[in-house]
Amino acid sequence: MKMLYCKDCGEFRPEEDFSSNVNSKTGFAFYCKKHAALRQKNWKKENAVKVKAAKKDYYRRKKNSE
Ligand SMILES: [Zn+2]
Repeated sequence: MKMLYCKDCGEFRPEEDFSSNVNSKTGFAFYCKKHAALRQKNWKKENAVKVKAAKKDYYRRKKNSE
């Protein structure tokens, strides 16, 4: 069985623990399914904060320009 390295695990894991990723050199995701899901979750969380902050900024600027 092919083993792939997960940066977040810090160790090699079996291929079946990875989703496929056509953009990667190996053809598999850079992180195992568990960590890929975790990263996705964190990204969404971070992004939600950013979007919220951007919206706030937009309304503030709009208000100031009026
Ligand atoms: Zn992992």
